[in-house]
Amino acid sequence: MTIRNIIFFAAAGILVSCSQTTNTNEMKPSGIELSNMNTEVKPGNDFFEYANGGWLKANPMPEEYSRYGAFEILAKKNQEQVKSMIDEISEMEEVEKGSPEQQIRDYYNAGMDTSAIEELGMAPIKPILFGIEAMSTKEDIVKLQAKMNFIGSYPLFAVFGSQDDKNSSEVIAQMIQAGLGLPDRDYYIKDDERISNIRKEYVDHITKIFVLAGIDEATSAEKANDVLAFETKLAEISMTMLERRDPNATYNINSIDELMESTEGYDFKSYFTELNISNTDVINVRQPKFMAGVATLINTTDLEIIKTYFTWNILNDNAGKLNSSFVNQNFYFYSTVLSGVDKMKPRWKRMISSTNGNLGDPIGKIYVEKFFPAESKKRMVELVDNLQIALKESIKNLDWMGDTTKLKAIEKLKAITVKVGYPNQWIDYTSVDIDPKSYVQNTWNCSAFSYKRDLNKIGKPVDREEWGMTPQTVNAYYSPNMNEIVFPAAILQPPFFDANADDAVNYGAIGVVIGHEMTHGFDDQGRLYDKDGNLNEWWTEADAVKFKEKTQILVDQYNAYTVLDSMHVDGELTLGENIADNGGLFIAYNALQMSYKKNGTPEPIEELTSDQRFLIAYAQLWRQHIRPKTLMRHLQEDVHSPGEARVNQGVVNTPWFYTAFNVQEGDKNYVAPENRAQIW
Ligand SMILES: [Zn+2]
Repeated sequence: MTIRNIIFFAAAGILVSCSQTTNTNEMKPSGIELSNMNTEVKPGNDFFEYANGGWLKANPMPEEYSRYGAFEILAKKNQEQVKSMIDEISEMEEVEKGSPEQQIRDYYNAGMDTSAIEELGMAPIKPILFGIEAMSTKEDIVKLQAKMNFIGSYPLFAVFGSQDDKNSSEVIAQMIQAGLGLPDRDYYIKDDERISNIRKEYVDHITKIFVLAGIDEATSAEKANDVLAFETKLAEISMTMLERRDPNATYNINSIDELMESTEGYDFKSYFTELNISNTDVINVRQPKFMAGVATLINTTDLEIIKTYFTWNILNDNAGKLNSSFVNQNFYFYSTVLSGVDKMKPRWKRMISSTNGNLGDPIGKIYVEKFFPAESKKRMVELVDNLQIALKESIKNLDWMGDTTKLKAIEKLKAITVKVGYPNQWIDYTSVDIDPKSYVQNTWNCSAFSYKRDLNKIGKPVDREEWGMTPQTVNAYYSPNMNEIVFPAAILQPPFFDANADDAVNYGAIGVVIGHEMTHGFDDQGRLYDKDGNLNEWWTEADAVKFKEKTQILVDQYNAYTVLDSMHVDGELTLGENIADNGGLFIAYNALQMSYKKNGTPEPIEELTSDQRFLIAYAQLWRQHIRPKTLMRHLQEDVHSPGEARVNQGVVNTPWFYTAFNVQEGDKNYVAPENRAQIW
């Protein structure tokens, strides 16, 4: 996990798309693939199947995917584009050391050089493992931990720089819980059959990795049990996913001295010195109970166990980069056991992902020059403007919100920064040493570069030009601290945004995505931040109470949504995303109606009315196959509802779903008007 992944764990990406406004109403093809639908099904019974059934049937899940739909198809296209870039670069005779071309080419080629990787075996990680083995004091633990942080491993906890929640113009040091090999603390705590089985498989997996590392089987099995026991102790003091969604609960500013007092036994002063953080004397301890617990654990745990745990962290974080025995075992546990995928992606695809992950900016710069049409940016900005006007109108007309809060909400809406396509300035990677022969070392050099860069921001004003996603990422996000919405270039293409599609389809697709991101500024978390991105109560108490009542309807609705027969969506965990989907649908629909008012309502296209096209376009974004094991993971770990619920539970709250598809009482997904949710 890179530090960027850890930071973004809490951020609100959408998995959504983009569109444009066209001012002409001539007949155009709708942009909807009619063959993707299954019109045998009644829309009121299962709108997801109605809109996507044809596609689901004609496009079975590829073996190497855990989930497959519109996002994955675009990501696949994207991989091919990046591959074509790398192929071109590889043919260049002279590339300058430190240039994006040299780095991309050599990083990728080093990763593809499997004979060198096989031959090296464990050699690349041996020096750090020796370092761990040689630890003999608490001071050594601190030193080793910092060393591991610079190569992308975060045992116990992690420190990074990000905006101060209550002073969003400054970057401060933040400390978060970390150090678990399973996806979430619940995997160590819960006792149902699925989770118990995963724990058993995990111990088995750790044993096999230790054996591959040259340790005898009996000792390996013992060590694996020690790792599980130690991580379980970490899990017991960790915050749950739901607790971490409360920004007030994770805001605990401490001076370094205060931190030292509450965590006796761990020398944070020397840890910060090792990390070269000198520019600050305060830190936000996001999980104080966890940090105090970690200090106690270090005081009471045998040094041998800590060595085993650190060793496991290094092996686990690097298994996917070593020789094929490690790669296969790593894939078996993390993809087959946890997500139900039996077949590995071909190596070139994995190496494109790795290159993208570690050299995102150098690739992004070339990517947008080659693949991002300049006019997309202009159209997208127009569309965002229209959505902004529609949301402003909605806020003005809300019957449940008082004037004081409305005024502040509109101020916040006006203050949202919009970023489209790619950043104005690129991160300079020139100093990163990339060698054509050392894959593992290359990944470490990239980690060290990013981490140092990140820590270097602590104590400084925030850089408002920086992006949290690369332009080649098929996604979008809202940042509450920046109060900005960001749409990377890669999502601004069909089926999300299609210059040839009609307005209803573009508003139903990228329009809803834009509305979704805007709404994040006003969801259960986002509403706690003001227009400047500070955690600061700007709602009247009465309005906050009404907001909670309104959103409780969504909590209850999604709690009642079942998948895989009896498992249900977690209405609390997914609330922010469900509020955003709900808002996205209403705002985009209103923006579309505003454009019709100006330009006239078009005739049906391919016998589909505008309302029908809008809703089908929305539903088709979420077409996807998902493996049962992956779906179970998502229900537990993902703040987004599954695609099927986003469609079926999303549309039933809009009145035009009922009129457009003649949905009646008695239909499976019918919701009586008084039970429907509309927040914004
Ligand atoms: Zn979202």
